[in-house]
Amino acid sequence: MAIAANQSRRQLHFIVFPVMAPGHMLPMIDVARMLARCDGVMVTIITTPVNANRFRSMLDRDRECGFNIGALELRFPCKEVGLPEGCENADLVPKGKNLEMNFLAAVGMLRPHVEAAMKRCEPPASCIVSDMLLIWTAEIAEGLNIPRIVFNGSCCFSYWCSNKITDSEILGGVKSDTEMFTVPDLPHKIQVCKAQVKGVTFDPNILNPDLAKLVAEKLRQSINAAYGAIVNSFDELEPDYVKEYKKMYGGRVWCVGPVSLCNQEYEDQALRGATSAAEKKIDEQQERLMKWLDLQEAGSTIYVSLGSLARLTPRQMTELAVGLESSKRPFIWVLGKKDMHLDAFEDWNVSTGFEERNKGRGVLIREWAPQVLILSHPSVGGFLTHCGWNSTLEAISLGVPMLTWPLFAEQFLNEKLVVEVLGIGVSLGLKVSVNWDGSEDKGNIVVVKSEEIKEGIDKLMDKEAGKERRRKVKELGEKAKKAVQKGGSSQCNLMALIQAVATFGATKL
Ligand code: UDP
Repeated sequence: MAIAANQSRRQLHFIVFPVMAPGHMLPMIDVARMLARCDGVMVTIITTPVNANRFRSMLDRDRECGFNIGALELRFPCKEVGLPEGCENADLVPKGKNLEMNFLAAVGMLRPHVEAAMKRCEPPASCIVSDMLLIWTAEIAEGLNIPRIVFNGSCCFSYWCSNKITDSEILGGVKSDTEMFTVPDLPHKIQVCKAQVKGVTFDPNILNPDLAKLVAEKLRQSINAAYGAIVNSFDELEPDYVKEYKKMYGGRVWCVGPVSLCNQEYEDQALRGATSAAEKKIDEQQERLMKWLDLQEAGSTIYVSLGSLARLTPRQMTELAVGLESSKRPFIWVLGKKDMHLDAFEDWNVSTGFEERNKGRGVLIREWAPQVLILSHPSVGGFLTHCGWNSTLEAISLGVPMLTWPLFAEQFLNEKLVVEVLGIGVSLGLKVSVNWDGSEDKGNIVVVKSEEIKEGIDKLMDKEAGKERRRKVKELGEKAKKAVQKGGSSQCNLMALIQAVATFGATKL
């Protein structure tokens, strides 16, 4: 679908504003780049200098190809909120020091600067694609009389489950944290417990319900009041839930994913999200990793990553290590950033000779992994994932079945979609959500035992028992690829979104 002739002369200027956390920034930058590839669209991404460094080379390449895309860099007020200088992304916030709220406060302090920058935009902003969590962009959009489109970084399924749980007030009648109940009013029978969904639902039994309710309601209102929503999903993946979601916005829900598939060049896949300027080149280590993968049998390797923010406790990490070793399969395990937990694990690693013993069969990645590139490799046959939506959809789009280990937020609901609705995963059976640092609220440590991990891997990778799961996920992967190609559902939805912004003034009259 082309933009109508009378609008094609006017350039549309999309402002894209992600929260600075990898799971939010990566898909929104993909969306920004997809938009900029469309005729007559200019895109400006609002961010801060440290974050801009993470995707500068990508935008430079896009501009060399003639696409009109850039970043507007605002100073991040680290000092004002007591954060270390340069702490401009949630993945840089030091763990265990209770600085998460300071980080969010600094994001909030950007408001007047965002507003002023948007007023000065040239050509004037046509719309703002705002992270769903940035409530205050609603007033900026209203002041400029432009549509505010929220980016929902999860799937329609989890959004609907959490809304149905909250709206029905079913949690009020649930006796314990671990009692299973059925999510009301869904096309599928989905059972969860309170402890799994506490971060994404409202429980009327909590101590200070008025305040919690107020916050939850404010967020919900701001989401509902948006002109429409962009979702990183595709129509064929969860049709019933897309339909439900569309009812909320008079049809203005655009599933444009899987957005990670817009990274078709090797360089984009290899460098997507790499966290420092020094990592902005494909280094020897990465080349060695790809060569190592080339040597493994097709479908033999398990890839392990629990996302960009979550940490496992050291004890849990050693259980995972033992589970991986006893599975006797090739593995890649992303350990993530250096911190106290990782230091303690490294001590164990050295003293037990874990890494040394598994040389050749297992690869440990410290810091950032080129996830999309790894998942694309034919040797990868399974993904042990925390079910963050980006990781989940990346696995689906690349046809990789999952072993699910949800940790917090809506990840338990994503697990339900993967295992029970789509039939493309094996669950490790976790019942309780944890904090970012891997500990439970009460300080206990949740442990998935090494034997359970081994069993899960065996089940996932089993040639016979896993056949149907593999067939289903490959089929969904093919559908995902078709969706983002010319004429595919996501590509058509992207065009419909541009058309809706182009005609915004007219439809409002
Ligand atoms: N990711 C990556 N390399 C890493 C860790 C994460 O490329 O070492 C990417 C991953 O591909 C995904 C995103 O970071 O796109 C993580 O988002 P997700 O929603 O899966 O989880 P979160 O990090 O938000 O918990």
